[in-house]
Amino acid sequence: MLEISASCIGCSKCVTACPFGAIAVENKLAKVNEKCTLCGACAQVCPVSAIEIKRKEESSDLSAYKGVWIFAELSEDRKNPGGKTVRAVTHELLSCGRRLADELGEELCAVLLGNGVEKLCGEIASFGADKIYLVENEALADYNTDAAATVMVALITKHKPSIVLYPSTYIGRDVAPRVASELYVGLTADCTGLSIKEGNLLQTRPAFGGNIMADILSPNTRPQMATVRPNVMKKNEPAPGAKANIVRETVALKKDFSRVKLVERKFDDIGATENIGEAKIIISGGRGMKNKRGFEMLDELAQTLGGAVGASRAAVDLGLMPKPHQVGQSGTTVSPKLYVACGISGAVQHVVGMSSSDVIIAINKDPSAPIFNVCKFGLVGDATQILPKLTEQLRKRKTV
Ligand SMILES: Cc1cc2nc3c(=O)[nH]c(=O)nc-3n(C[C@H](O)[C@H](O)[C@H](O)COP(=O)(O)OP(=O)(O)OC[C@H]3O[C@@H](n4cnc5c(N)ncnc54)[C@H](O)[C@@H]3O)c2cc1C
Repeated sequence: MLEISASCIGCSKCVTACPFGAIAVENKLAKVNEKCTLCGACAQVCPVSAIEIKRKEESSDLSAYKGVWIFAELSEDRKNPGGKTVRAVTHELLSCGRRLADELGEELCAVLLGNGVEKLCGEIASFGADKIYLVENEALADYNTDAAATVMVALITKHKPSIVLYPSTYIGRDVAPRVASELYVGLTADCTGLSIKEGNLLQTRPAFGGNIMADILSPNTRPQMATVRPNVMKKNEPAPGAKANIVRETVALKKDFSRVKLVERKFDDIGATENIGEAKIIISGGRGMKNKRGFEMLDELAQTLGGAVGASRAAVDLGLMPKPHQVGQSGTTVSPKLYVACGISGAVQHVVGMSSSDVIIAINKDPSAPIFNVCKFGLVGDATQILPKLTEQLRKRKTV
């Protein structure tokens, strides 16, 4: 329910902000009509806090909420500037969502926001979506906090899903809390396990620095919302040609709707060939790589193999790599086919983020380094000596 108090000054800012044409000012007082989706855009801009959205009671009829939704995250298509691709974590969410939806006997729906992205629906359907809510708008061409959160709140209020899952990425972690606070529902961050318990979503996540796994339920409100760690949920094989019911939703977002503006787009250049969360090969370095030159050696090997460069937290703290490349408990969880750990001791906080890699190779000059307990192949020696020779040999083999 949207309430406009007597402190309204009739300034009309809410009228301009509303993407659904649901507010008009009459006799210097804002009035809301039936088009209101409770998206909250008006409350954000009201200079006198005269607009209040009350939602708590709305979730009391839980049986009205049905279906498992996933927020389909897209990324830049670097081969096709300006284009978008579906991120691998979206495939993981769809696979996990499919399992939950089957267990509940409900639909799996994806929410796809963007501009000119309809062509991605086939790929989303191939990972199990029954339905895709497609919202295309100029203001959604690039991810934008205000625009994405407003549209999500409006869609959730209209269609009432029981569960909404977001990736635990920069985007997912940005949009999900805003949606949760607008809807006045709970949100469990960074889940590593999801299942159904007596009709509710059982959300499992590490707590207390990874020392215990906490099980969390939100039994009294709907939708139940969680962000899910990339590279943790098993990805199903896609079924090419699978079809989903595409439901187009329209929103009248103006291009300047948001308070957040995209000023510049910059890709980092070291190891930029791939995002580490999605890379098949990761060449990672720790404090033992010592300096920038050490990390250039890692990048040379990564480029030779077509992989990405990762780092331990110690290396990130030393400024040798940017934080998005950090692997581990407080960084990214990775699961590549090949993980090469160079000058990394193998602390438990690092290992939890890479131990599910198919093949781990460690290079360390200390034969008692714990990393040798988790690797398949270990080389005891100076990584700064070994890496250039390895890269040279691999380059020669590529040219033969
Ligand atoms: C709450 C919390 C969260 C954390 N999260 C993370 C996380 O997400 N990711 C993470 O990585 N860490 C994390 N840490 C830090 C973690 O505990 C370790 O401190 C860190 O992983 C150590 O990084 P390192 O292996 O690069 O450095 P070190 O432990 O200093 O190891 C350097 C290694 O390099 C070897 N070496 C030195 N010179 C050479 C050479 N020339 N050639 C080959 N080997 C060489 C040494 O033998 C040594 O084994 C976290 C810690 C806490 C408390």
